[in-house]
Amino acid sequence: MASVILLPDIIYSVGKIIGVGQNYAEHVVEMGAEQNRPPVLFLKPPTAILAEGKPIKLPDYSTNIHHEIELALLIGQTGKNIKKEDWRKFVFGAGIALDLTLRDLQRQAKDRGEPWSVSKGFDGACPISKFTPLTEIPHLNNLQLELEVNHNLRQKGSTAAMIYPVDQLIAYISTYFTLEQGDIILTGTPSGVGKIVSGDFIQARIIGLGEIEFKVE
Ligand code: MG
Repeated sequence: MASVILLPDIIYSVGKIIGVGQNYAEHVVEMGAEQNRPPVLFLKPPTAILAEGKPIKLPDYSTNIHHEIELALLIGQTGKNIKKEDWRKFVFGAGIALDLTLRDLQRQAKDRGEPWSVSKGFDGACPISKFTPLTEIPHLNNLQLELEVNHNLRQKGSTAAMIYPVDQLIAYISTYFTLEQGDIILTGTPSGVGKIVSGDFIQARIIGLGEIEFKVE
């Protein structure tokens, strides 16, 4: 069994991990990506999960691995075609994730019109925190995200700047994918993404949800 996490007292098996790309305008600009488009979705397998306490191991088939801090949502109940106003019934909790991305392989894939499976879904591509139950979080629509590498601030943003906020994402994603208990949604990253190298120390925090730390090997 690949991976379990989550929550202080409850353990779910991790299901599919659904990533949302280009959901913050400033990041769309820094990536030179198309604007005013529907959410970009991709998948990571459960084997991408990397629990706190384990190091990020740089794969030898990439020379450009990027950090992307993201608000992560944990699905608690099966749902399909979820209405925007009902999203809270299906989300059990929120956490902090790194959507690690092999930027060189992703660039190749984009150029060739190939999927992002390897660049986004390789082993360890989703370092993640434990999840805080939604009942303990007053709101998700103005959470501050910060990522530091070696104590230098690289990414800083607010979920208030999401192009598609959480309710719209749940509705959109569940049109295509039945959401099941243990599935995780990564909601996109603010600007400031950049390369990590061996020896780096990463701290990622969302104010109100806590902080995760990872060493890079
Ligand atoms: Mg991302």
